[in-house]
Amino acid sequence: NANILDGKALSDRMRGELGEEASLLTKKHGRAPGLAVIIVGNDPASHVYVKNKKLGCEKAGIRSFSHELPADTTQQHLLGLISELNHDPKVDGILVQLPVPAHINPETIIEAIDPGKDVDGFHPYNVGRLAARQPALRSCTPYGCMKLLAETGIDLHGKECVIVGASNIVGRPMALELLLAGATVTVCHRFTRNLQQHIERAEIIIAAAGKRGLIKGEWIREGAIVVDVGIHRIEDGSLTGDVEFATASKRAGWITPVPGGVGPMTITMLLANTIQAFKAHLGDE
Ligand code: NAD
Repeated sequence: NANILDGKALSDRMRGELGEEASLLTKKHGRAPGLAVIIVGNDPASHVYVKNKKLGCEKAGIRSFSHELPADTTQQHLLGLISELNHDPKVDGILVQLPVPAHINPETIIEAIDPGKDVDGFHPYNVGRLAARQPALRSCTPYGCMKLLAETGIDLHGKECVIVGASNIVGRPMALELLLAGATVTVCHRFTRNLQQHIERAEIIIAAAGKRGLIKGEWIREGAIVVDVGIHRIEDGSLTGDVEFATASKRAGWITPVPGGVGPMTITMLLANTIQAFKAHLGDE
């Protein structure tokens, strides 16, 4: 039976440490780290994410500035707000909750954020830095997955890693993180033939397809590390992931639960990035 990779416990521990660091830095520099959170429209899931991010900030001693904009906000207006926040000395991080309404181009919005304030790590500059092995601000979900993998104490050099999903926010930066850590990386996506064959040889699996139960427990190699990024709300209201947990956890060496695995780590890394950006702005490296 697999060891549980407990993202909730790691997250609690890291947030405690980040809170202490934020408090020391606030004393030293006379202001708290600041995160501006922008949400456009009224997607209920997005509002829950934003609420949790603001709560996480508050508990860690990071000041949050909330900008809740109506669904019919123009792209021009949003770009104007981002420009103001780029120049606001109290703001160290800027986060635009995705998805934005269809009349707004998310790439244009992301590229408008000062890369030094891009605490989601989505700006092409920050993705490029990671690709060039000089990470600056790193995408929160893959960064959180790396912290979870580190908890196993297993050396990643040469490990056969299979990532399922190739999105800009999870799969692609995850591949860059694992490559940087010395792993051998395969990225599977919707055009991949024979997903099962890839999974069966994987020593590390990162599941981020957004397809409930896509990865069957019996495909898992004995002793593999399984990190499940997927989040799906099921009929009874509870949450589940992309991996069949019950069967997978009989074969895996380590496995993340859903909830309580990757989810809390994503917000934790957002807090870590905000403090990192704060230190960079104050020249306190
Ligand atoms: P996305 O829809 O943007 O990308 C999904 C990727 O999976 C695509 O590259 C697609 O090609 C691939 N894919 C789809 N079906 C596939 C299949 N049958 N076989 C192989 N590959 C397939 O999704 P995303 O934004 O990357 O999110 C993925 C999942 O992770 C979702 O469930 C999302 O809710 C979750 N998520 C969780 C967190 C967290 O903090 N835990 C953060 C971000 C996303």
